[in-house]
Amino acid sequence: MTKVHDPLPAGVDPCDLPGHGKKPLRLEEARALIVADIVPVADEETVGLQAALGRVLAGAVHSSVDVPSHRNSAMDGYALAGEDLPRSGEAAFGIVGTSWAGRPFGGTVQRGQCVRIMTGATVPEGTDTVVMQEHVRLDGDRAVIEAGHHQGQNVRPAGEDIRRGELALEPGTLLRPAQLGLLASIGVGQVTVLRRPRVAIFSTGDELRPIGDELGPGQIYDSNRYSLHGMLTRLGVEVVDLGVVRDTREDTLRAFQSAAGSADAIVTTGGVSVGDADYVTETLERHGQVGFWKVAMKPGKPIAFGRFGRAHFFGLPGNPVSVMVTFYQLVQPALRALMGVANDDPPMMLRAECETRLRKKPGRLEFQRGHLERRPSGTYTVRSSGHQGAGVLRSMSEANCFIILPLEQGDVEPGTEVEVQPFAGLA
Ligand code: AMP
Ligand code: MG
Repeated sequence: MTKVHDPLPAGVDPCDLPGHGKKPLRLEEARALIVADIVPVADEETVGLQAALGRVLAGAVHSSVDVPSHRNSAMDGYALAGEDLPRSGEAAFGIVGTSWAGRPFGGTVQRGQCVRIMTGATVPEGTDTVVMQEHVRLDGDRAVIEAGHHQGQNVRPAGEDIRRGELALEPGTLLRPAQLGLLASIGVGQVTVLRRPRVAIFSTGDELRPIGDELGPGQIYDSNRYSLHGMLTRLGVEVVDLGVVRDTREDTLRAFQSAAGSADAIVTTGGVSVGDADYVTETLERHGQVGFWKVAMKPGKPIAFGRFGRAHFFGLPGNPVSVMVTFYQLVQPALRALMGVANDDPPMMLRAECETRLRKKPGRLEFQRGHLERRPSGTYTVRSSGHQGAGVLRSMSEANCFIILPLEQGDVEPGTEVEVQPFAGLA
């Protein structure tokens, strides 16, 4: 990270300082720089399996059992020795008992005999093949089976899923519902996970009022803290809400100090541009470390990134849509690294035919808000979700995806294929 030692002179655009370069960073460069600087949390705690949803595994988990523990049937049907299957015509087998799931057949099955078997039940001694019941004709106490089956069918070997001693989950795994099920299947009821990072948030701006207050001239409600709280909670971090901070040097410094006292990361909104009342960058500049300010993305420029004390710092723009775009594109990957997530999945991207005309100037990577739909044929279409201003939350609220327009792209005509990033994932 670039460290600027001298205080920022009043009225100087931080982007113009030596070492920061006038040329804005590309989003991927900015993201890589931020993620590389993150020091993941190291403290561990042990929690019950249900409470482990959304947490990150601290160490590897190996299985102490075979899953499944026994050779078992994949079907309801009849278990028999595969060598007895008829090559042509049909053969009859005497039914000598039943193997239930959890209540195995006690005896050994002789040649020419079979056992009724349920899904998941142990495949008895003397058998190695299951014929599903729909393919069996009953004739008194005999099961009549036609040719066309093969030895070993419908039998799941012990350890097919996980073998005893095998690695079940790697350190740094984010525990989703499937991982909770997998851990339960190997009998693990408690897991050691990394501590949840604490993330302090505050909004800056003299114009901001809390919900419930009457709005005076020029005042607005503070919406950023609510969208930010939602995004952080979804991510699975602990949120420390420090409220609204007035646009003064003193209040801003006090808020930074209070945040850094308890948090692993600080996320603020507003006050990072170069207006007279923008004290966030200045405070960071004088009392912390600053990484960069300019990213060639829209909405979202400028962004402050660095450290304050031991806390990672992310200073997002004030405009409500810019906050959400920069959070998802830059802060979320960084916070997942802070959570200790290893091998993070990249966000899903699709190509869709754009139905509306999109206005775009070359020079910045642009995130427009869109509504994605799937045609009956399986291809996707997307349209603009409305006014694309950086302060217009309605088009964000009515969107279900970002339409990502590359740096050099100009206006988009209807019928053009564009890249989209859906908001929702299945798990
Ligand atoms: P700033 O970056 O502080 O100059 O803010 C840019 C724009 O975003 C201004 O119009 C602010 O009023 C608006 N804004 C800043 N913070 C918030 C907030 N917490 N909630 C809603 N709008 C905000
Ligand atoms: Mg402001």
